[in-house]
Amino acid sequence: MRFKAPRGTRDLLPEDIWKWQHVERVFRETADRFGYREIRVPIFEETDLFARGIGDSTDIVRKEMYTFEDRKGRSLTLRPEGTAGVVRSYIEHNMGRNARVTKLHYYGPMFRYERPQAGRYRQFWQWGLEAIGSASPAIDAEIIHFSVSLHERLGIAGTEARINSAGCAACTPAYNELLRSELQPRLDEFCDDCHVRFEKNPRRMFDCKRKSCLAILKEAPSIHASLCDECRGHFERAKEHLTKMSVNFVVDETQARGLDYYTKTIFEIHHTGLGAQSALCGGGRYDDLVRELGGDPTPACGVSGGVGRLIMALESDGAFPEGAPGPDVYMVCLGEAAQLAKAAMIAVLRGSHTVETDYQDRSLKAQMREAGKLGARFAVIVGEDELARGVAIVRDMAAGEQQEMSLDGVVAYLEDRLGATKEEQR
Ligand code: AMP
Repeated sequence: MRFKAPRGTRDLLPEDIWKWQHVERVFRETADRFGYREIRVPIFEETDLFARGIGDSTDIVRKEMYTFEDRKGRSLTLRPEGTAGVVRSYIEHNMGRNARVTKLHYYGPMFRYERPQAGRYRQFWQWGLEAIGSASPAIDAEIIHFSVSLHERLGIAGTEARINSAGCAACTPAYNELLRSELQPRLDEFCDDCHVRFEKNPRRMFDCKRKSCLAILKEAPSIHASLCDECRGHFERAKEHLTKMSVNFVVDETQARGLDYYTKTIFEIHHTGLGAQSALCGGGRYDDLVRELGGDPTPACGVSGGVGRLIMALESDGAFPEGAPGPDVYMVCLGEAAQLAKAAMIAVLRGSHTVETDYQDRSLKAQMREAGKLGARFAVIVGEDELARGVAIVRDMAAGEQQEMSLDGVVAYLEDRLGATKEEQR
């Protein structure tokens, strides 16, 4: 019997993890610069939170949630997205009490029962931001600017910000009616799922992945003609802010987001090299969600992005800065007696440097090959002969130069050389 990772999940292996760490680090630095503080919320929540928050006509709630009962019969769900949990926490901890804008960032795994394919998993990682407490279009623009900046800072070229308005509670009922009346004559041509969407929330039909449904929807009216003055003005101001911030964007009137909570500005950042799953991140305003989840009416705006997609984009652009950094020192030791000298030296060096070594009594050649493969900066070689003479050979791996020195002087020499390199890198 052999176990495999469950379908749609994957192991992030040590040889690739530096890429994930790199993205996470740049995300956290960028979030700091923009003033978004980290929040960590549970990975599972009460099922109703997602049903209410995301909307029960969405694909996520209807088909994609990992829902289970705990031992007391409570219905819990692995979080399919981050916003509902963050908003729940915002309300629970009364974060709005000082009437300031609460700016939060999060990072972690999400779970959706989707059909796995390139760039689509059942457990995937998302980064996200939420700004709760401001109705200003400046916040919409800030969050879009953040999203564009993050990708730029990571070195991803070829991204496009596509923005649209989702309308608000005042103007969407009229749009829904317009959509229904326009689509009714061709309803027979839609799939079963779209029939359900038509009844519950016709705008969700834009989430359908079937080409035949999408072809008919291409001719459907866009929301723009139905937008109320407030939504129209808000959209114009958000665009002005983006222009002033030199953020390039295109207006995509057909864009819809797969979650019900969006109002007013919505957006996605796409990467031209990623094929079908080209959305790197998406978000927008959700002015009614805090109230719907039991809080005081509070406007808000957010974004979330797939870390796996980002890594795919970085790979396709060849934009990763360099491989995982190798150890500072690889200790090569030969013979029983040298092992103790090595143990002492490693113990000291690990106080400030990364040190690797051999644990299998391999030959000098094998150990040197490993030092090279790992990308070590220095190899320190101590054999029986060196030990007897109280010396070690220190090899600068990149320069290919080596020198013999007294065993007592090795630690100070390495501290000096490695310290100097670290200064240069700063
Ligand atoms: P959403 O929460 O659906 O708005 O998705 C936001 C972003 O998360 C998308 O733009 C993708 O980058 C990423 N994403 C969503 N679903 C998946 C998935 N099943 N696998 C990998 N990434 C995903």
